[in-house]
Amino acid sequence: MSAPHSPFTQYLADILTGSKSLVVGLWITLKRLFTRIVTVQYPRQKLTMTPEFRGHIEAIRFDDTKTHHCVACGLCARICPSHVIKVQGEKTKASSLKRGNQYFIDFSKCSLCGLCVDYCPEQTLKFSNEYELVFYSRWDTVIDIMGRLKENR
Ligand code: SF4
Ligand code: SF4
Repeated sequence: MSAPHSPFTQYLADILTGSKSLVVGLWITLKRLFTRIVTVQYPRQKLTMTPEFRGHIEAIRFDDTKTHHCVACGLCARICPSHVIKVQGEKTKASSLKRGNQYFIDFSKCSLCGLCVDYCPEQTLKFSNEYELVFYSRWDTVIDIMGRLKENR
């Protein structure tokens, strides 16, 4: 059986243990100061979405026309398994083709399947990077695709 520690020895041992834990704690803090920060301070900081991310669909703005290429053929609306696309267009004087001027989707029913994007003959649809959609009512989930294109000029 070992002899009991004197109060002074115990005191020294406590100081050593406390100092060691202080040094270890400071070391961990120091290391964290120089490692890459992975936490995003949302909403002040935003994440960059990966190319695979699927937000709601949106119209692509092309450099040649500075707007979309939708000809209101309606193929996307017909192929959509959720029947959430409403598209309308009108003929212009410059072309025999129609030009899409209204395009709405009900995002609450969209399954993000991508059929509309894949089958659009004008390749004028893509998935957006939008991840901050907030809806306050059932009716807010209807997204005005042409309106958003104009807003994001
Ligand atoms: S992604 Fe699929 S469900 Fe959504 S609008 Fe396009 S076709 Fe319809
Ligand atoms: S988005 Fe494409 S598939 Fe849909 S109506 Fe316009 S041109 Fe046709």
